[in-house]
Amino acid sequence: MAKRTLLKHSINHIMNKKVFDRYMRLPMPCNKILATYVWIDGSGINMRCKDRILTYMPFCPEQAPEWHFDGSSTGQATADNSDTTLKPCAIYKDPFRCEPHVLILCEVYHSDGKPAASNNRKYCNNLCELHAAEEPWFGLEQEYTMVDVDGWGLGWPKGGGFPAVKYQYSYCGVGAKYIAGRDVSEAHAKACLYAGLDFEGTNAEVMFACWEWQIGVSNGIKGADDLWISRYIMSRVAEDYGVDITYHPKPFGHLHPGVGMHHNFSTNKMRTEGGYKFIEECMKKLETNHMKHMKVYGNDEMTNKMRLSGKFETSPFDKFSWGIANRKTSVRLQRGIKEKDKGYIEDRRPAGDCDPYLVCGLLMETCLGGAGG
Ligand code: ADP
Ligand code: MN
Ligand code: MN
Ligand code: MN
Ligand code: MN
Repeated sequence: MAKRTLLKHSINHIMNKKVFDRYMRLPMPCNKILATYVWIDGSGINMRCKDRILTYMPFCPEQAPEWHFDGSSTGQATADNSDTTLKPCAIYKDPFRCEPHVLILCEVYHSDGKPAASNNRKYCNNLCELHAAEEPWFGLEQEYTMVDVDGWGLGWPKGGGFPAVKYQYSYCGVGAKYIAGRDVSEAHAKACLYAGLDFEGTNAEVMFACWEWQIGVSNGIKGADDLWISRYIMSRVAEDYGVDITYHPKPFGHLHPGVGMHHNFSTNKMRTEGGYKFIEECMKKLETNHMKHMKVYGNDEMTNKMRLSGKFETSPFDKFSWGIANRKTSVRLQRGIKEKDKGYIEDRRPAGDCDPYLVCGLLMETCLGGAGG
């Protein structure tokens, strides 16, 4: 049996970038477009990509050809029936190679035409289309942790120690003592804006080497699509720095803060005067369906349960609550929402590694009705 040794260092960020740049500057024939097909693999959180050369630049997903891959190597098919289809669903400018090259976000289908188990986009998109007149808006706050390839927090003391700095200093922190990895967050922001995402902002989070970016305010499916491609872009940027990214909801155990993805949500009705009454109705529906939501609000229900401990500005996992300006509730409403009689809701329950297609989909299903299946 071959000996398996854990990585101690990444090789990627020490490769000669100046030599690499020489090749990147080679002019390409104008009828050769590099297209990176990107998809969610069988883990439901990690992403895969592979490249092909197109002879034209696709402007919409319908113009990009379908493609296939070996689903048995991604946890999405068995080896005896492994041909798995990539169906383009969104096109972005490639921030790594620049225009005219593209990133193509794809849905995964089995050879019989059924969506793969980790393909929840169809479910979400059906609901977006059903409720298009209500213009469902989403704002997604993706928190994440930067780690070394050895799994320990970026810049955390080696040998098992925790950063001495108190957590309340790291939130929106500045200064080498309080934050680690700003270059990664900064490079990612620029790359996402170049690619054409509804990219809204970033901040350092409560835990050392933990950060957040926001996607929004997006109408319909674009919010979740942009969030997934922004995860892909983050993995690629982090590769360049030899850094690994984890969305684990409780990466360092119960003594340390958790990692979530708050989902901010509103509809025309909520955003129009008189909307507060509808928002209250939605709170009742969300309460009734609480455990149904918790089932799919993280890649793994148990790790989100570790996060939703009632500590570190979270609400308990098995109890629904809502309140105005209260960060210890399942759902928080903005200050002044009653007076304005309209607004949006912030669902604080989803884990950092949730699938926004599922969360956005279920928010629409519970609050607005209809089924996406
Ligand atoms: P906080 O960290 O205090 O919760 P953020 O600024 O990180 O606040 O996130 C607020 C989110 O709310 C943003 O993603 C933004 O897009 C979203 N948002 C603002 N207005 C609306 C709205 N009307 N409907 C849906 N989302 C909204
Ligand atoms: Mn091959
Ligand atoms: Mn935030
Ligand atoms: Mn946050
Ligand atoms: Mn929030």
